[in-house]
Amino acid sequence: MLSSRQQQCLQGIGVRLWRKRSAADASSLATEPLAIPAVTEMFDAPETQSSELKIPHTSLADVTPAPEKASPAPAPRQAFEIPLLDNWDVITSTIQQCTACELAQNCTQKVPGVGDRKANLLIVGEGPGHDEDIRGEPFVGRSGQLLDRMLAAIGIAREQVYITNIVKCRPPNNRDPKASEAQQCRVYLDAQIKQIAPKVILSVGRVSAHNLLGSNLPVGKLIQQVHQLPGTGIPLKVTYHPAYLLRSPAAKAIAWQDLKLLHRMLQ
Ligand code: URA
Repeated sequence: MLSSRQQQCLQGIGVRLWRKRSAADASSLATEPLAIPAVTEMFDAPETQSSELKIPHTSLADVTPAPEKASPAPAPRQAFEIPLLDNWDVITSTIQQCTACELAQNCTQKVPGVGDRKANLLIVGEGPGHDEDIRGEPFVGRSGQLLDRMLAAIGIAREQVYITNIVKCRPPNNRDPKASEAQQCRVYLDAQIKQIAPKVILSVGRVSAHNLLGSNLPVGKLIQQVHQLPGTGIPLKVTYHPAYLLRSPAAKAIAWQDLKLLHRMLQ
């Protein structure tokens, strides 16, 4: 049974709530849709357009034939020295300067994380996408807007949590981060976790869950139990990535169960 506050929240984000039907309603039952539409509309709200920029493809390289000689071998990447990451200033500035993997060469800017550095809830996604790469902030595109509504449904504002990703630079063409890239970047996430000392971690999506748990089980399996972040006592809940929920709205019903459990874990 939902509290009246939860009911208000859900109605606010467009979730239709069930009520007991009267005899008059019963006659129209045969023609009405079943529960799925209410479930699939969960967390729905108008989304703002992606801020995708239209960049003309023509450049000097397109019109000037390149000289026909073998391109020189890429210079070997210099080892990137990581200092002791024991405070936020060092964590953030080291991420900003990081050249440890090839992702740093292709991204517009680093996306270290955002939010309350003393939050009870830490949310870990996969890696910045196009909008995040432009804005320098995690989860600001369509997925981010849905994530915000999911949090609001359990009474949590974006500003109350800390949000970051497994990798801090956008992988080209939104590909999955490679294992080596995730591993290079892990030192930053670990340092952030140490500083925040969250009560609970919410791991969103396959890439996040697999990296945090060192597992390769499907997300559908991993969401069935509460885990602990290996090497720490921090409870870790897995849920579907908002991008997946946008593609598969029927899974929002499961995500809603995850969110209610997350809410209880935070009490
Ligand atoms: N998807 C993610 O996993 N992280 C973001 O920051 C944005 C989209």
